[in-house]
Amino acid sequence: YNHQLQLSERTEIISSLAASVAHEVRNPLQVTRGFLQLMGSRSDEKDKEYMNIAIEELDRASVIITDFLTFSKPQLEEFVDIDVSQVIKQIEGIIMPLATLQGGRIIVSVPAGLYIRGNISKFKQVMINLIKNGIEAFEDDGEIQIRAYDKDSKVYVHIKDNGQGIEAAELLKLGEPYFTTKTKGTGLGLMVTFRIIEAMQGKMEFESEKHKGTEVTMSFPKVKH
Ligand code: ADP
Ligand code: MG
Repeated sequence: YNHQLQLSERTEIISSLAASVAHEVRNPLQVTRGFLQLMGSRSDEKDKEYMNIAIEELDRASVIITDFLTFSKPQLEEFVDIDVSQVIKQIEGIIMPLATLQGGRIIVSVPAGLYIRGNISKFKQVMINLIKNGIEAFEDDGEIQIRAYDKDSKVYVHIKDNGQGIEAAELLKLGEPYFTTKTKGTGLGLMVTFRIIEAMQGKMEFESEKHKGTEVTMSFPKVKH
């Protein structure tokens, strides 16, 4: 119990700090990257190597920011009725190419007219973080299925992959700040995702089997339209 309390306090601090600075930091990172590239193109081999290391480190910083805040500006916190299928259509342009690049595919089966309550940018962040994790878990012939439906005054959203799966002991750690099994992971994606879903009065559960895949089930109060 005590551990839980400390964990959520720590999470609180990390998240609020990140939300306020991350957005401001992305632009200068991009500008710096551009100039480093320019300088690299007119430098000797040794300097080029240093520039490339600098660019890699900048990219790593960008990944951390992306896991935290893909779309949302801290000041845009309004809650609206979200059309789940519409949000998925909007992020398809980002996630489909990502899946293709990893040699896999995404199959969407989400009917129109399912509404839930929340902040659209934050909900996009949730979907992107979860789908990205699925893609990053791809083994060969990767596939992600996204489906949604309503039942008993709730809207359910499932994201299922056929990837590498999660160990039982690791399932307990999902959402802990900095818990990652990836060499280039941040361990921040699920922490943020859990918090956003909580703020939407929703729930998220993981089911996984090693080398079979992982299924994330989210449920939210259904909004009548
Ligand atoms: P990151 O993706 O940066 O590692 P996350 O918080 O998004 O951080 O995920 C934490 C960890 O949870 C991952 O490193 C991975 O071990 C595990 N994980 C999450 N989703 C999946 C998934 N769909 N398949 C396999 N492992 C997953
Ligand atoms: Mg992730």
